[in-house]
Amino acid sequence: MCQEIVIIGGGIAGLSAASELARLRGAGHGILVLEAEEDVALHSSSRSAQQLIPGYGPGPVLELTRWSIDQILRAGEELAAPLAWPSAFVVAGRPEDVAAMAAPGMRSLSREDLVLLCPELAANPERYPSAAVDDSAVRTDASALVAWHRARAEAAGVEIRTDARVVGLSPQEGETWVVDVVGSGKTAARSETAVRARTVVNAAGSWAEHVGALAGATPQGLQPYRRTAALVSLAEPFVPEHPMVDDAAQDWYYRPDPVGAMISWGEAEPSEPCDATPHDGAVAALIETLERETALRITGTVKEWTGLRTSRPSDVPVCGWDTAAPGFFWLAGQGGYGFQTSSALARATAELVVQGRVGWWLSADTVEALRPAARDADVVLRCPTGTDGNPATGGAAL
Ligand SMILES: Cc1cc2nc3c(=O)[nH]c(=O)nc-3n(C[C@H](O)[C@H](O)[C@H](O)COP(=O)(O)OP(=O)(O)OC[C@H]3O[C@@H](n4cnc5c(N)ncnc54)[C@H](O)[C@@H]3O)c2cc1C
Repeated sequence: MCQEIVIIGGGIAGLSAASELARLRGAGHGILVLEAEEDVALHSSSRSAQQLIPGYGPGPVLELTRWSIDQILRAGEELAAPLAWPSAFVVAGRPEDVAAMAAPGMRSLSREDLVLLCPELAANPERYPSAAVDDSAVRTDASALVAWHRARAEAAGVEIRTDARVVGLSPQEGETWVVDVVGSGKTAARSETAVRARTVVNAAGSWAEHVGALAGATPQGLQPYRRTAALVSLAEPFVPEHPMVDDAAQDWYYRPDPVGAMISWGEAEPSEPCDATPHDGAVAALIETLERETALRITGTVKEWTGLRTSRPSDVPVCGWDTAAPGFFWLAGQGGYGFQTSSALARATAELVVQGRVGWWLSADTVEALRPAARDADVVLRCPTGTDGNPATGGAAL
């Protein structure tokens, strides 16, 4: 049987696209999600800070974020528990660093207001003389959002196959693809199957460039970057409304969490796509840094992890048809914005695949910025300098 649409990757990108494609088509039958792992969302989508910040990222990302936050808040209104809720975002540091990160919608904070909001920064006035806050930021429950998209897709008839790694993509005459799929044998007998599909959506996260190469598609310069984080317990718990705090010098950030705090380095170290794990001592060094620079007292580590944030040189996600491989669609390069742009990118994907164009709700400039690079385009990795929102270089540290 020929599938209408095969989506490669069961992270937030692939599952939100499946859910939105099913909604727009009025049915999910003929849509198949293939996920290499034994469960969905085991990679970047289960390792994020879960913050949605309207002022974080380059211009097209800001537009995608505003739209996505609105959709995620609305979707939650129909559910027993919200999918997102208000969670202010504070940037603190030297005035020039704060100014470099302050985006439209952020207001500056006096030192007194900063200390009221974040008393743990009071002891270090030299390092945190200046700050700005974004009151419109929200926190999402990433696993609930992933589960909501999955349930919505499956209820509409989408099939989600796990332990199904795509290892080959061959274009056939008649405008279909043969998708070669291998099952590892961990959840069922080892298997090798082939699926036919008219459209292939590449939502393979850090592996998207490799999946593109399987299809002979145009390279997009997608590069995964490591980031290491942890959940820790605190001697003095945060009040529930404590904001997320980002060091404007890009070094680290933290936010309240039911167990105490989520803490993270702001690093962006290039990596191969993989199941990344923390470097030895990385979390201990982060805890030491936070305890030196703030009054936080960390009593234990509950969990530590490293995730990959995968970006194009432009730091704008890629969402559109490949220029060399007909029927091959890119949905990748979400970098540190994969949740905050997810609903808008899912809708843009669904509209491009089903209707051939994106509706009026998204500006033409953003649609253009999302377009995949053509084969003759100059895809070069950006030089690691500057504070322009490139995860390799600067912007907020999330
Ligand atoms: C520390 C950290 C903090 C972050 N904080 C935030 C934040 O606060 N807000 C925000 O918006 N974003 C944040 N992000 C970014 C966000 O997590 C990612 O942008 C997002 O999860 C990417 O989703 P994805 O579906 O593209 O990738 P993934 O979740 O990695 O999913 C891709 C899937 O494709 C599968 N796959 C790959 N190759 C194949 C194949 N050949 N066959 C079948 N399946 C395949 C993989 O197994 C994987 O499950 C953060 C990321 C990190 C690491």
